[in-house]
Amino acid sequence: MSRPLLMAACLLAAAPALAAPKGDPARDPATTEAWTPEPAIVATPPGGAPSDAIVLFDGKDTSAWEAEQGGPVPWTVADGAMTVVPGSKGIRTREKFCDIQLHVEWRSPTETKGFEGQDRGNSGIFLQELYELQVLDSYHNPTYANGQAGSIYKQAMPLANASRPPGEWQTYDVIWKAPRFSPGGGLISPARITVLHNGVLVQNDTVVSGKTEYIGAPSYAPHDCAPLYLQEHASKVSYRNIWVRKL
Ligand code: MG
Repeated sequence: MSRPLLMAACLLAAAPALAAPKGDPARDPATTEAWTPEPAIVATPPGGAPSDAIVLFDGKDTSAWEAEQGGPVPWTVADGAMTVVPGSKGIRTREKFCDIQLHVEWRSPTETKGFEGQDRGNSGIFLQELYELQVLDSYHNPTYANGQAGSIYKQAMPLANASRPPGEWQTYDVIWKAPRFSPGGGLISPARITVLHNGVLVQNDTVVSGKTEYIGAPSYAPHDCAPLYLQEHASKVSYRNIWVRKL
C-alpha cells in the first residue's frame, strides 16, 4: 500500500463509528421488532397431541364423552379406537367448546358391499352439536358433493376429495370459529370453518349458513358454547386420537 493510502486507511479506522440510527423507523430495523409477549411454548410430540391440547380420546379413555341420551359411551373401544355401534345413537363431549382447533382421526369400515352413497361409512362431527362436518367413505362412492367427506353437510362441498380407501385412518384438522349472537339473540357473525382432510385443504374459512338440516334451508338460533358431537349413522366408523385446543 502506498504511503498516502495507508494514512487514509489509518484515519478511517480511527474515526468513530457512524452513530446507529436508533429509533429511526426509516433506518433502525429494531423499531419493527416485537419481543413481548413471548408466545407460549407448546411441545409437539410426533403423532401425539400438543402439550396444551385437551385430549378427548387417547385410544382407551372415553371419560370425556357421554351418550347422546346421557350415561356412558355406548360405542366399543378396542385396539386404540372407538367404534360406532349402529343403533346406539351418538356421543357428545362433557365439556363445551366455542372457538377451537380440532384434530380427529377416523376410519370407515372395510365392509362396503351393499352400502352405497350416504349409507357407506357415514358419521359426522358436529361442532357445537349443531353444525356437521361430514364423515363418509367417499372413496369411489358417489353422492351429492355437499354431502361427501369434508363437506359441511348440505351447505359447502369440499374443495377436493382427499379420501383414503375404507379401512385406512384419515385425519381432519379443523379451525372452528363459533357464531356470535347479540344479547337480543340476533346473529352478529356466522360460524366459519377451515378443514384439512389428510392434510389437504377442503374448507377454506367457509362461512356456515346455520344449523345443519337434512331437509330445507339452514338458519341460526342463538346459543352458547356447546359440546362436540359424533354422529351414529348406522355405520361402524371408528375414531382415535381426538384432541382440541381452545382458541
Ligand atoms: Mg353424517
